[in-house]
Amino acid sequence: MSAALIDGKAFAEGLRGRVGDLAAAFESAAGRKAGLAVVLVGADPASEVYVRSKGKQTVAAGMASFEHKLAADTPEAEVLALVETLNADPAVDGILVQLPLPAHIDERKVIAAINPDKDVDGFHVVNAGRLAVGLPGFVPCTPLGCLMLLKDRLGDLSGLDAVVIGRSNIVGKPMAQLLLAESCTVTVAHSRTRDLAEAVRRADIVVAAVGRPEMITADMIKPGATVIDVGINRVPGAEGKTRLVGDVAFAEVAQVAGAITPVPGGVGPMTIAVLLRNTLVAAHRNAGLALAPGAI
Ligand code: NAD
Repeated sequence: MSAALIDGKAFAEGLRGRVGDLAAAFESAAGRKAGLAVVLVGADPASEVYVRSKGKQTVAAGMASFEHKLAADTPEAEVLALVETLNADPAVDGILVQLPLPAHIDERKVIAAINPDKDVDGFHVVNAGRLAVGLPGFVPCTPLGCLMLLKDRLGDLSGLDAVVIGRSNIVGKPMAQLLLAESCTVTVAHSRTRDLAEAVRRADIVVAAVGRPEMITADMIKPGATVIDVGINRVPGAEGKTRLVGDVAFAEVAQVAGAITPVPGGVGPMTIAVLLRNTLVAAHRNAGLALAPGAI
């Protein structure tokens, strides 16, 4: 492998450490801990793992974690009422509703009910709008984590050609907005893109967020490009087990790229670390305390 490995796990650990220090300072200044409320409806096993992990890491960073686990058949009105209660609770700085929600609940309605200033996931249309027009707001955690890794690796991104593969509201679109705000020339590729290989081959920065195992191959990559692999795909592995792979064919792309994130251990660990960071930012705003720009 000739590419440098972008160690998201180590970066996320450092970020969680900085958040922890600032969370302790916040507690002294505000007389209370920064607080994150997580709402889980139903018992989807993957969601339960995420929620447990979020709760643990929130507490480890010195913040308060409020978990609300509701039965799968909870009526939509009850979920909306809980969100209203959390909006009004001064101990809650950030609210995260774990997606997906059961089919009888309208996700958009629930996200729209969250106070945008507590929307630490950055999914509310107000925060999507703020990002689009360059106002401060909350940015979805996974793409913000990708940007942090890119800036740590490359410094100034201005003028670089970037391709984002995938156009979801959670990853692809906000990633493209973030790169545009860094003055990259951004191409957004998706399932209808006619010549994906050609678009990717032009890019100094490649962010793959598709959900298709190892679809980005070495022949598509410009030598020296920086490759961020958001994809998490479970594929059959040895001895009847499964293993995780990204959207990028890691072994061959690492021969051509300048730097690359692994799966697992790349983008994955960044998401919760950024969630904690966003919660700390929300706490400072809600308490009227200053947080130095660029402190985290
Ligand atoms: P999504 O299904 O909402 O969006 C996938 C996007 O890929 C779509 O915009 C679609 O147009 C595009 N696409 C599909 N087939 C394509 C093709 N052949 N060529 C080009 N584009 C194509 O998915 P998402 O929520 O954005 O997640 C994408 C991947 O990232 C998934 O594997 C998901 O598990 C992973 N993910 C990881 C994290 C994390 O690391 N913490 C967070 C979110 C998502």
